[in-house]
Amino acid sequence: MRPPALVDLGIFSVELGERPSAPRAEARTLPQAAALFFRFRSPKLLALAVLLPLAVRVIAGGFTIWDPILALAIVPLWSIQEWWMHKHLLHAKPRKVFGRLVDPTFAKRHRAHHRRPWSLSEVFLPSSVVLLAFPVSVALWMAALPTVPLALTAITAYSMMALAYEWTHFLTHTPYKPKSRYYAKICRGHRLHHFKNEQYWYGFTIPYVDDVLRTSPDQSAIEVSPTVRTLGVTSDDLEV
Ligand SMILES: [Zn+2]
Ligand SMILES: [Zn+2]
Repeated sequence: MRPPALVDLGIFSVELGERPSAPRAEARTLPQAAALFFRFRSPKLLALAVLLPLAVRVIAGGFTIWDPILALAIVPLWSIQEWWMHKHLLHAKPRKVFGRLVDPTFAKRHRAHHRRPWSLSEVFLPSSVVLLAFPVSVALWMAALPTVPLALTAITAYSMMALAYEWTHFLTHTPYKPKSRYYAKICRGHRLHHFKNEQYWYGFTIPYVDDVLRTSPDQSAIEVSPTVRTLGVTSDDLEV
């Protein structure tokens, strides 16, 4: 059955005949989508990465005006980082370094995701990446900020944005139909990224980042990319 959101967004002709399987039918409403989302490992880990520092931050107390300012500043910071990581890390091609093939897990997972966009298990960040990123985030914010409470605020906000990224990305791969213009922009952009041209529309949480960074062209002026499913990586690239 055709996913209605795609028909509404006017890009179904691009996708016709290329879809390996349909989106999972059980996530048509937000509660259904949330129940399905938290069945996967990465969302559970990211929820913990929000709740743990949040609990410690509340116990520490001593909130100042800098806490909300810092938390708000992390929103655009995350969005730009998300765009950059999607473009340069998730789409990184395997490279030979001193004769050895370097092909990180997150890039392999993302290529699998482009090949099978409706396979939900490949939508999420690998658990190993989340388990490594959290202590790195803790160390960096502790080093960058003058007090432990402010660092805890930053760690919580940063993890919240990571969870928001996983959620918005996941939702675009379900049959949930956009009800707001904001989410419709996210959904449309990401489906164009998957089915029209992988070199555009890298944003998720703040989709306007693609407008600012000039990766949100008029889709009618863009050719369907022949590498939209493979990201330009063939089996030859994977041989040392
Ligand atoms: Zn995707
Ligand atoms: Zn991609």
